[in-house]
Amino acid sequence: MTQETGGFAALELHPSIVAAVLATGYEEPSAIQQQSIPIILAGHDMIGQAQTGTGKTAAFALPILHRIDPSKREPQALILAPTRELALQVATAFETYAKQMPGVTVVAVYGGAPMGPQLKAIRNGAQIVVATPGRLCDHLRRDEKVLATVNHLVLDEADEMLKLGFMDDLEVIFKAMPESRQTVLFSATLPASIRAIAERHLREPKHVKIQSKTQTVTAIEQAHLMVHADQKVSAVLRLLEVEEFDALIAFVRTKQATLDLASALEAKGYKAAALNGDIAQNQRERVIDSLKDGRLDIVVATDVAARGLDVPRITHVFNVDMPYDPESYVHRIGRTGRAGREGRALLLVTPRERRMLQVIERVTGQKVAEVRLPNAQAVLDARIKKLTNSLAPLVADAESTHGDLLDRLTADIGCSPRALAAALLRKATNGQALTLEAVEKEQPLVPTYTPRERTGDRPERGERERGAPMPLGEGRARCRTALGARDGIAAKNLLGAILNEGGLAREAIGRIQVRDSFSLVELPEEGLERLLTKLKDTRVAGKQLKLRRYRED
Ligand code: AMP
Repeated sequence: MTQETGGFAALELHPSIVAAVLATGYEEPSAIQQQSIPIILAGHDMIGQAQTGTGKTAAFALPILHRIDPSKREPQALILAPTRELALQVATAFETYAKQMPGVTVVAVYGGAPMGPQLKAIRNGAQIVVATPGRLCDHLRRDEKVLATVNHLVLDEADEMLKLGFMDDLEVIFKAMPESRQTVLFSATLPASIRAIAERHLREPKHVKIQSKTQTVTAIEQAHLMVHADQKVSAVLRLLEVEEFDALIAFVRTKQATLDLASALEAKGYKAAALNGDIAQNQRERVIDSLKDGRLDIVVATDVAARGLDVPRITHVFNVDMPYDPESYVHRIGRTGRAGREGRALLLVTPRERRMLQVIERVTGQKVAEVRLPNAQAVLDARIKKLTNSLAPLVADAESTHGDLLDRLTADIGCSPRALAAALLRKATNGQALTLEAVEKEQPLVPTYTPRERTGDRPERGERERGAPMPLGEGRARCRTALGARDGIAAKNLLGAILNEGGLAREAIGRIQVRDSFSLVELPEEGLERLLTKLKDTRVAGKQLKLRRYRED
């Protein structure tokens, strides 16, 4: 066992849970996991103050899986989540962590899907129920005993649930469960309404809070970029084109991600390597030495593997995956700006992680400015600048050393000096694209997400009226359904149905545009036909979805 796996192993979770967690590539528990897991394992009630992105799902899922009895085929744990999307995510997380626990089943219960199969799954012995409060109350109205055997209750994102008006539903649900149950409440904020719930329904709860000390990081210029998770690698490649870096460290969350990103970078010609907890200590030292002396320019690391790394050459830190907490953000970006030099830190933020960005800004006491992806013109300019910089110093005495050779070659070949210089340039750039069209073709613009997606799912009015589809994201295909606003459809209904029936990750689905009489959805090009077949019989708002590939010409 490596030093890092000791982190999870030391938590006294069932070995099959630890094995599943390590198989997903987590190297060590995040702060919220470290603190919450022992408390929940010991059976205490708990209030956890943590944001999305801190690893809070595993912080409750792992100890709860440990505490249920797989041989009993009845609901034992209930997780309440504010939205269908979060309920599905949490259910998927449970399934991942329970992969090596035969007999454990998870059911997600939410509105917009038929009730029958959900109830059947509960009656068939699912031990873990992940539900939105509204739909769960519908089930309780049909069968008030549904929750009678539940011993563990988790309220996930409790503040969001209250904001969505679920207070009354929560009270109904509390009453339908045994009083002896364990209750764990997670919330990003603790307003009076949440404290009142805790007062009434939790017994001597232990408090866990991810400490947010104010920290300053003045020498480092910070920026963030909004991007969908499945577009991160393309975004990184594009950013690297224009950033003038000496050495760079990119942080990701899992070992697999270190390998994937490092090989994508190598394929583009960067001198890059992965650094993760699976790599033997002496090999890690070799990677760091190479970064120090310039044999490598980019290291893609997990937090654990990069601990203590001190390489003065590092000018840039890319937070490709969000850190778990503001402290590790500060720690990560502290890898640059060493010894009084200037550094630059970039943070990629997916739609789910916007809150974490705000927390980071609060804790560091600094605004992390938003940047946009450089466009093709900027990439082209950067490439030409690099070429200029590399050639300029060579010009000085070249004529005296190679001028005669040039004369002879142009005469022998029978070409102009311009033609020969152009040929040499082509060779020097390995035939790299140095025209706007070529850059555009080689690097299709990565979709960053739009303000509409940031604020909700309804398109802006003007946009809806104009009716023009937005530019299509890389690797995506546009699909059309004849269902639109006049059928009572909102983007979230389409999203829910496709996530649910198509078995896709949220990030796999691009923009959704709902018009009056039809809607457009961006889906992954890869496996599209299979996905459309899967969605063949899907209904939304009682009508057949009938999603088809949409040809724009
Ligand atoms: P959450 O805060 O639960 O939404 O988790 C945020 C992300 O962190 C999810 O994608 C998890 O898969 C991932 N994650 C959670 N715990 C760990 C860990 N200990 N190591 C690496 N990744 C983790």
